[in-house]
Amino acid sequence: MRYVGSLHRGDVFEPGRTVAFTLGARRVIAGLERGVEGMRVGGRRRLRIAPHLAYRERGVPGRVPANALVLLDVELVEIRRVVGGVETGGTKVLCAIGTGADDVRRQLSIPTAEPRETLARAVDFFRAAPTPVAAVGVASFGPVDLDSRSPTFGFVTTTPKPGWAHTDVAGPFRAALGVPVGFDTDVNGAALGEHRWGAAQDVDPFVYLTVGTGIGGGGIVNGRLLHGLVHPEMGHLRLPHDRAADPFPGACPYHGDCLDGLASGRALRERWGAPPETLPPDHPAWALEAEYLALGVVSVVTVLSPRRIVIGGGVMRQRKLLPCVRRRVVDLLAGYVRARAIAEDIDGYIVPPALGEGAGVFGALALAHDALARHRSQASTPE
Ligand code: ZN
Repeated sequence: MRYVGSLHRGDVFEPGRTVAFTLGARRVIAGLERGVEGMRVGGRRRLRIAPHLAYRERGVPGRVPANALVLLDVELVEIRRVVGGVETGGTKVLCAIGTGADDVRRQLSIPTAEPRETLARAVDFFRAAPTPVAAVGVASFGPVDLDSRSPTFGFVTTTPKPGWAHTDVAGPFRAALGVPVGFDTDVNGAALGEHRWGAAQDVDPFVYLTVGTGIGGGGIVNGRLLHGLVHPEMGHLRLPHDRAADPFPGACPYHGDCLDGLASGRALRERWGAPPETLPPDHPAWALEAEYLALGVVSVVTVLSPRRIVIGGGVMRQRKLLPCVRRRVVDLLAGYVRARAIAEDIDGYIVPPALGEGAGVFGALALAHDALARHRSQASTPE
C-alpha cells in the first residue's frame, strides 16, 4: 500500500512534535522516526518515509495501515540518528548515547558483574534516553560468535571470565529495545571508531592493536571490518623468545610465550611482580616490551600491509614506549618493506588512537549506525 501526500514548505519535524499534513483526502499526523532528531520540509527531495515513521489519522474514518509507505516531497535538512554504544570489558561496561564520537550526549560506566544484572543496567540506561535510540552497537570482549547464521551469534563463547561463558550479549538489547543491534569484538569496535572519527579516517587497510590486560588486533580491509574463519587473533602471534635474556615463560594459558603471553599487561605484572603503571620509565621492562611489540607489529606489516597502525590500550600510557616501538619496527624491517611511510614518516605510520580510551565505546556507536543501515537496506522495498 502506498500513499502520496504533501507537506508545506517550511514545516518542521522535531522530536516529540508532530506535523499534520494532507494525504490524499486524509489528514495525517506524522512524527519522527525513532532516533531521528530533526527534519525540515523543503520540497526538493523525494523521501520515502515508512514504515518507520509513526503516523496516524485524525478525524477520518479508517486508519492508515501500519505498513503503508508514505511518499512525501521533503528536504532532509539534518538527520542525525541517535544511537547507543556498549563496550563490554573485563572490569567495566561502558555505554554511550549520541550520534557519533563528536556528539556524545550521555555516558555511563558499569562495573562488570554478573551478566544478567550488568546487561540489564545497560538496557535501562538506553531506555531512559530522552531521544529513543535507533540502534545499538555492542563491542564485546571475546571470544565471540560473529557468524550471523549461527544460533549463538552475538554470544561471548568460551571466556574464562566467571559467569560470562556462553552468554548472549547482543540479544538483551534487541529484545528489550526492539531495535537493530550491531555486534563485533571490542578491538574491531575500536578499529571502526578510529576509522570513522579518529586517527585512521579514510585509511584502508589499517590495523588497530590494543595492548591492555590482554593484546588484541582488528582492522579494516577494503572498507570492511576484518572477519574470517572466526576473527583475527593478532595477540597470539608467535614471537622469537630469547630465554637467556628473558626467562619468563609467558602468561598465555594456551601458548605461554605468544605476543599476549610476553607483552600484555597481565604478562608485565607476572614477570615484574608489579602492575605496569607502577614501573618507572627507566625500568628494563620497557625496552623488552618495545622489542616484543615491535616484533608483533612487523608481522602485522608483512601480512596485511596496512597503511597505518594505531596502537592503544592501557600499557601504552607509558609515554616512552611508542617511540621505542617505532624505532625497533624500522630496525627490524631492515629496509625490506619499501615505503615512504616507514622510511620517512614512522611517527605518522604508528600512531596512538585519536579517540583515546573512548575508541571502543565510540566505535560501538559506529557499529550501531552500520546495523541500522543494513536493517534499512534489507527492509526497503522497491517503489
Ligand atoms: Zn596465546
